[in-house]
Amino acid sequence: MARVRNWQIDREMSYWYPENRPKRQFAAVFDTNKCIACQTCTLACKTTWTSGKGQEYMLWNNVETKPYGFYPLGWDVKLLGKLGGQKWKGSRYEGRTIFEAAEGGERVHGWRPEEMDYAYPNVGEDDCTGAKLERGDFLTLPHNRWFFYLARICNHCTYPACLASCPRGSIYKRPEDGIVLIDQSRCRGYQECVKACPYKKTFFNPLTGTSEKCIACFPKIEMGEANQCFVNCIGKIRHAGFVSRPEDAREDNPIDYLVHVRKVALPLYPQFGLEPNIYYIPPIHVPRPFLHQMFGPGVDHALETYRGAADDPDLAGLLSLFGSSQYIVHRWKRENDSVLGFDEKGDEVVRVPLREPVHIRQAWDSARSIARVNIP
Ligand code: SF4
Ligand code: SF4
Repeated sequence: MARVRNWQIDREMSYWYPENRPKRQFAAVFDTNKCIACQTCTLACKTTWTSGKGQEYMLWNNVETKPYGFYPLGWDVKLLGKLGGQKWKGSRYEGRTIFEAAEGGERVHGWRPEEMDYAYPNVGEDDCTGAKLERGDFLTLPHNRWFFYLARICNHCTYPACLASCPRGSIYKRPEDGIVLIDQSRCRGYQECVKACPYKKTFFNPLTGTSEKCIACFPKIEMGEANQCFVNCIGKIRHAGFVSRPEDAREDNPIDYLVHVRKVALPLYPQFGLEPNIYYIPPIHVPRPFLHQMFGPGVDHALETYRGAADDPDLAGLLSLFGSSQYIVHRWKRENDSVLGFDEKGDEVVRVPLREPVHIRQAWDSARSIARVNIP
C-alpha cells in the first residue's frame, strides 16, 4: 500500500497505488434541493448506454429517495455498519477508510450485493421519516418529517476502489480527464470491482461475462459537451466541469467556486476515502446528523452559504447557470444582472439573466374580452 493525500478527509491515507492525478479531473455538482425524482436522467442514460442484453437491470444513473431508498438494496448502510465508528475531528477524518479497513488478503473492504438486491429499485421508498402528520403539525426547518432525492452516477473517484481491487488491471483512470473506465477486452468478470465500489456503480453483465460501468459519456466530454444525464435533467440540478486540487482552485472555474471557494458542494461519504468527484449541495430541510454522516463535516457551512444565496448575486448567478447549456462551462463570470459561461477556448456559450423577468398581464383583457390567468 502507498501513502496518498486525500484532501476530502484532510490527511494522508493508504491506497493500493501511488498518487497519480490526471491532468484535469472530470467533476460535477448536483443540487439536491432541485431534484424532483422525475428519472429523466435515468432514462437518458438507459437509452444511450444500457439498452443491450445483459444490461436490463443496470442503472448507471439512478435516483433514490433517502433515507429508505437504495440501489442496490442497502448499498450505503451495509458498508457504514461494517466500517464501524466514523469520527471526524474538525475537517480531519479519524476513522478508517475502506482501504484502511481491508482485512488480510483484501485490497478494499467491501461486499457483493445479491441478485435480488437490484430487483426493485424505487419500489416503496417515498416514505417520510417520523410518524404520520398529526393534526396541528406545521413545517419547520429542518423538517421533522422528511425525505429527499439523491441522484447518483459513478463518482470517477480520485482513488477508485474498483480500480484498486481489479486483479487483472482492467480498470484505468484516463490521464486526460480522470474518467474511470473498464477495458472490456481485459476484464474476465471476477467482479472484485462490484464488491469493492462502495457506491455500487460497477455492474456485472452475465451475457458478456464482463463488468461495466458509467463512462461519463466520454465521447461527449471529448467534444466539450455535457453528459446525457446532465443535458436531459428536468430540474436543472446538475453542472458538469473539472475540479482542481484545493491549492489550485480558481474562482472563475464553476466547480472550483462551488467546491473550494464557497464550499457549498460536498462529496458523498468522504469517509470511504475515494475522493469522489461528484459533489452535492445538501438538502436544506433534513436533520443535520443525517447529513453529517452522508456529506461530512462541511454541511453546516454549506447550508448556511446556500440559504444566503438570495442576497449573494455571485452564488445565485452561478446556481442559475446549472443546466443552461449543452456545453461544458469551463469559466464563468457575472456582469451586473447577467451571468456568462465560456467554453474551453474562452468563447461565450451561454448567458442567463440573474433574475428571470416576471410579466404580469391584466386579468381582464378588454381588447379581446377574455380573462387571462397568470401563473407565477
Ligand atoms: S464510484 Fe465506484 S465505480 Fe466509480 S470510480 Fe469510484 S469506485 Fe470506481
Ligand atoms: S432528471 Fe434531474 S430532476 Fe429529474 S430525477 Fe434526474 S437529477 Fe432529478
